[in-house]
Amino acid sequence: MNQAQGPKEDLILHVDDPDTLSWDVEVDVFVIGGGGSGLVAALAAAERGAEVFLVEKEKAAGGNTSLSQAMVPAAGTRFQKEAGIDDSPELMAEDILKKNGYESNPELTLHVARESARLVHWLVDNVEINFELVTDFLYPGHSRHRIHSNRSRKGVHLVNELLQAAGRHKNILVGYNAPAKRLVATGSDNAVVGAEVEIQGIGKNLARAKKVILALNGFAANGEMLRKYIPEMSEAYYFGHEGNTGEGILWGEALGAQLECMGAYQAHGSVAYPHGTLLTWVVVTLGGYQVNRGGKRFVNEYRGYSEHALDVLNQEGGVAVEIFDQRIHDVVLNYEDFQQCIESGAIRKFSDIEGLAEAFHLPPDELVRTHDEFQRAARGESPDPLGRTEFGGPLEPPFYAAQVTGALFHTQGGLKVNHQAQVIRGDGRPVPNLYAGGGTAVGFSGTSGPAGYSSANGLLGALVLGKIAGESAANELKGA
Ligand SMILES: Cc1cc2nc3c(=O)[nH]c(=O)nc-3n(C[C@H](O)[C@H](O)[C@H](O)COP(=O)(O)OP(=O)(O)OC[C@H]3O[C@@H](n4cnc5c(N)ncnc54)[C@H](O)[C@@H]3O)c2cc1C
Repeated sequence: MNQAQGPKEDLILHVDDPDTLSWDVEVDVFVIGGGGSGLVAALAAAERGAEVFLVEKEKAAGGNTSLSQAMVPAAGTRFQKEAGIDDSPELMAEDILKKNGYESNPELTLHVARESARLVHWLVDNVEINFELVTDFLYPGHSRHRIHSNRSRKGVHLVNELLQAAGRHKNILVGYNAPAKRLVATGSDNAVVGAEVEIQGIGKNLARAKKVILALNGFAANGEMLRKYIPEMSEAYYFGHEGNTGEGILWGEALGAQLECMGAYQAHGSVAYPHGTLLTWVVVTLGGYQVNRGGKRFVNEYRGYSEHALDVLNQEGGVAVEIFDQRIHDVVLNYEDFQQCIESGAIRKFSDIEGLAEAFHLPPDELVRTHDEFQRAARGESPDPLGRTEFGGPLEPPFYAAQVTGALFHTQGGLKVNHQAQVIRGDGRPVPNLYAGGGTAVGFSGTSGPAGYSSANGLLGALVLGKIAGESAANELKGA
């Protein structure tokens, strides 16, 4: 930002005296973005008595959170204790740091891990979210069962429950079809005092706010920003929400905020193709494997679904065939995403490997050889040549298979924030009155690429930081 010229006008409306503007609405806390982070921030602020106005760009709330499997990691919850699982925030932070090569801020990572159990308890007790501990499988990167989700493993139900909770608060107003267009700031320190919103059918609306929370996710739907920061995924299949066009990050940057880890992202190596439905990674975690068009496995699939996307995209045609069996099928049958895969025709059933090879046009001899080798490793008879050590047991007929591809899910770089979720400038000072959570804030997945992403880092940053942002904004208003 060129301080002499002030922030760019298309991003920031800079005024000398906010009292001279004709404001359409005045609130305590203005939340931009109606996904998981924004809804949780709104609830946390409203619970502390703040008047909240949340605007959502699209005609429905939810964003990527609706598309997600609602998997939220938390350490030290009562659900873990009931299941006899010994976990701690320190261990959770260490797992996340190990996966991202110790590249995320260690204090903030530990802070978020420490807040994670409080988030889950609050969601269940105060917000009436139906969460349970997921013990069917251990997600790669997590050394303990610490993923909490709803029964259907589907984010849309989480969002609906968050919206119902918001509806119970008289001090939360939600506006749809209401994209925020720019922030309003004042003074030499660019203190944020509100935002300009384009409300469908009404037009430009100026909302004055004592605190503004940016919860607009990242820039995975913004081709220009992708080409700048993550060129390797700029042409990849994007499986996330179209609303995530990065303006929150651009506004923050225009106010002097520090951008961090802009090359980091979450991808996924198991999107059914061309059906466009998510074949949950639990299939691989429980013992499934993938082959390329040559009938060969190409990597240890167990490392993680995010980095696996590039491995799949590097195969002939950018696709792979994922193979699993009845045991795995029966576990994931409860998952709504898996049911959508079945409904879309992506999942096919075979009595033997030869039939599977024929259906997917794979060389049968090579596939049988690959399968036998995988089975020997899964039975512990010989080491896996690709180094996989987790199998969940050998596969038994009947087999199931789907063609999959790699896709971009969301970006993990964003605005630097502190422990109160305040947006931080390059000089270390907060941008007055501005908070960020979810994909608008920097995540916990390292500086670049897909490999630093630990399973469920996305909702961790969205929900934990969203709650912290809502609480901090409301507490600061009360002078607490
Ligand atoms: C298919 C899929 C599955 C996933 N599964 C998981 C999982 O199980 N666990 C996990 O941890 N992570 C998962 N993720 C990642 C996770 O969904 C995201 O990291 C998380 O939902 C981000 O939450 P958010 O609130 O920051 O953003 P979102 O939920 O995307 O919400 C942002 C909202 O802001 C709105 N918005 C954007 N710009 C504006 C504007 N100018 N004005 C007003 N509103 C605006 C958008 O329309 C959107 O509704 C998954 C992602 C995908 C795509």
